[in-house]
Amino acid sequence: MFKKILVANRGEIALRIQRACRELGVKAVMVYSEADRDAKYVKLADEAVCIGPAQSAQSYLNVPAIISAAEVTDAEAIHPGYGFLSENADFAERVEQSGFQFIGPTPDSIRTMGDKVSAKQAMIRAGVPCVPGSEGELPDDPALIRRVAKAVGYPVIIKAAGGGGGRGMRVVHTEAALINAVAMTKAEAGAAFGNPAVYMEKFLQNPRHIEIQILADKHKNAVYLGERDCSMQRRHQKILEEAPAPGINRKLIERIGERCVAACKKIGYRGAGTFEFLYEDGEFYFIEMNTRVQVEHPVTEMVTGIDIVRTQIMVAAGEKLPFTQRQIEIRGHAMECRVNAEDPYKFTPSPGRVTTWHAPGGPGVRVDSHVYTNYFVPPNYDSMIGKIIVHGDTREQAMARMRTALAETVVEGINTNIPLHRELLVDAKFMDGGTNIHYLEQWLDQRKR
Ligand code: ADP
Repeated sequence: MFKKILVANRGEIALRIQRACRELGVKAVMVYSEADRDAKYVKLADEAVCIGPAQSAQSYLNVPAIISAAEVTDAEAIHPGYGFLSENADFAERVEQSGFQFIGPTPDSIRTMGDKVSAKQAMIRAGVPCVPGSEGELPDDPALIRRVAKAVGYPVIIKAAGGGGGRGMRVVHTEAALINAVAMTKAEAGAAFGNPAVYMEKFLQNPRHIEIQILADKHKNAVYLGERDCSMQRRHQKILEEAPAPGINRKLIERIGERCVAACKKIGYRGAGTFEFLYEDGEFYFIEMNTRVQVEHPVTEMVTGIDIVRTQIMVAAGEKLPFTQRQIEIRGHAMECRVNAEDPYKFTPSPGRVTTWHAPGGPGVRVDSHVYTNYFVPPNYDSMIGKIIVHGDTREQAMARMRTALAETVVEGINTNIPLHRELLVDAKFMDGGTNIHYLEQWLDQRKR
């Protein structure tokens, strides 16, 4: 096992990784920007290094500063968390070239999966079902593009190969709009991601977002830890996740999980990863792979009893996965509400001083947050300030516990989306389970009227 790990992230995930290190008896070095100087996990760290000013570009994305922090503190490995540099293959490469272990997959795996066209091709080769669409990148010839769209069938969606965070996508309903839409998406993709390549997929009308969590070691072992339903989204951003996915046949999940495991073995994947699928009419369609720990990993931890972050660290240190597929059991139901510092109606960010922070508790309740009373939420980063996670024997019990947890939570001084979660948790359709990716936006539209 490592003696010391550098955590190249901030906020709740930095604290989550610090806790996993503590449990393993590993020292954690926290890096921080000037805006995070007072964070409690920085104060409680074994060691902490300031890597730059508040702006991410000069701190949490500052590769030389992070590498030199690892050098001066004698860290052996770097955990990238999620966001920031976690899916940057060049960073992973620099980490390894500098003699540190990157806690994640190889730079090659990150590169292949980071380009959605090559990721999809790798998945097709590995036998994972994908959304029907163009074979790779779209050509320039308008006649060829029209032919592809006709074969796929309208509506289609044009997506940037280098896209992410729900950006770089355009839905096209008619042939008349096609060529212009491709040109516009290409231009935007070039400007936003430095890669103008785009591809085409059939636009699924009412899918759910279902993803499979996997873990793999360096000894060719891989397992899947069941699925998560992340269909509750606003602007392609998840806000509430649960496991297992209501109403999906277990046999179907097993089949797709086994495909994901086979794909991991085929591409030599290691560490934690997530295969994201759209699910419609009983079929799974791969859309992309995330090569890092995800925000919503706790729901899987709650239903499997497996610590994903701890396992990431163990397999990075060369240990074998401590369990086999047959030992993994899904128990009960878990749900996570993301707490964002934002207006619950207008969604404008609401940074500032938290004058009261009272977290919920009780059986089956877990809070992953770095916030405390008198903490200042800096305006420079993502608005998510924590996650409330619950577990119950059944979905009904999990929902009841979430309602209680949300009612107990007190956050004053800033606005949060907790009122939105409270309303959602008593919504009849949500309570039935199985709503699709458009449900939340439609529900928000209705609420406005
Ligand atoms: P990103 O990397 O930007 O998150 P994804 O490929 O994961 O992009 O897609 C994000 C979201 O966009 C999906 O969760 C889904 O809501 C929507 N989406 C993507 N592809 C399709 C498709 N073929 N049909 C319908 N919706 C899609």
